Amino acid sequence: MTTAHYIHFFPTGPNGCSSYKHVDVLSEEGWWCRVCSHPKPGNYRIGFQVQETRLIPPISNSPFEGVGFARRDFLSLLGEENVERDLILGTLTGPDGRPFEGWVTVRGRHRVVLRGGSKHASWGCCEACGNVSYFGMPPYYLWPAPDPGARILQTHWGTLAIPADLAEPLGIKPKRGFGVSRLTVPDKPRDGFGELTCPPPAGG
Ligand SMILES: [Zn+2]
Repeated sequence: MTTAHYIHFFPTGPNGCSSYKHVDVLSEEGWWCRVCSHPKPGNYRIGFQVQETRLIPPISNSPFEGVGFARRDFLSLLGEENVERDLILGTLTGPDGRPFEGWVTVRGRHRVVLRGGSKHASWGCCEACGNVSYFGMPPYYLWPAPDPGARILQTHWGTLAIPADLAEPLGIKPKRGFGVSRLTVPDKPRDGFGELTCPPPAGG
């Protein structure tokens, strides 16, 4: 069985947070790679304390590309069993140190790159942590076809994508601050690259 396409959910507003600090770093070494400015590879929970915020539901930009902020009730729409299996949710704490009501941080177990056309496209590997870095221009698509067993994907931006057969019955519409778009899975990548995979970092 193949999925013809995916639906991408993303925030369209400006970055929702003017300042922040992160909390409950579960990895001893820290999850943040200072070299590529992204979370290091791996499936772990990320928590944040946000000092000042204007979060626009149902999903919002986090201060860091690669981590998402989402309304918990929006994720429930995608199916609790899918959330449980495919996402790792963390605590988003407000300025007073108490959990930010109704919001969670999102780290996906299945991470995909939103790929673009050949114009200005580039990619590389972070030598420090083994992350793929990528730049490409829209329209975006996914390639190769994601694992069909994964129902909620997280993009390299931290946004979410789900298969069309799951998305369409939900009828989720775009609105102010929230975009919904279609991601195809073409036969061949249009950026001229093959699979984007990086070796584990030396000495890591
Ligand atoms: Zn890195």
